[in-house]
Amino acid sequence: MKDYKNYLPKYPLIWQKDDLYFKVFCSIPNVATGIILRTQNSIFIIDPGDGILRDLKRELKTPDILKISNVFISHGHHDHVGGLWSFLTYLSVMNKSTPLNLYYPEGCIEIESIFRAFNEVYGRELSYEICLFPLNKAETIVTEGVSVKPFKVNHREAVPGSKRSVEVPSIGFNFAYNKLNICYGGDTAYCDSLVQMAKDSDLAVIEAGALDEEESELHMTFKQAISVGKTAKEFFLVHVPE
Ligand SMILES: [Zn+2]
Repeated sequence: MKDYKNYLPKYPLIWQKDDLYFKVFCSIPNVATGIILRTQNSIFIIDPGDGILRDLKRELKTPDILKISNVFISHGHHDHVGGLWSFLTYLSVMNKSTPLNLYYPEGCIEIESIFRAFNEVYGRELSYEICLFPLNKAETIVTEGVSVKPFKVNHREAVPGSKRSVEVPSIGFNFAYNKLNICYGGDTAYCDSLVQMAKDSDLAVIEAGALDEEESELHMTFKQAISVGKTAKEFFLVHVPE
């Protein structure tokens, strides 16, 4: 890891060009990832891991939090969705009145289970509507002046008690706004789709979660992540084991 010291993330990671602002509050494997993207007209959340509400409260005034209408989720692992419940609850307690869209990979049972349980507990008294958008192909979503293109990545999880791993529904996102674009790969092993999407982007946010070559089936090694990152104009490494 010594060779890669310069690339180790120090949170928060902040990137801004014109009025496009991107901030990774944190991204720590098995703990939490939380990201915000802002333009003049929009505020998006990307991967609402544990602590997202605390971080949003520090970042924004309550009326701005209530205006958030889009949450983009790369996959259902707990370190990427663990803050969703408290965020959804807070919005209702504060009387959000506009819909909230949740975009996530089709087949992601964590999001659908959280939604079902949340609806069961709070459904009758909820102040706003939650709309689920499972994404199953590379359809581009245009919302609030930002064009969001999901792309499939290759993320797996270890099967407990065995050496096997299974693929989990997982996507990355390309956010395009005013001739700028940001590529967020989510969690993934090295894969062609990420290589393509990261190339020439203004900012690539690339995970480097593998400790060694052996783990490269689940995550990217430093070497792989840096090689992909360097094809973008700028890059952040995230999801680096502490
Ligand atoms: Zn994961």
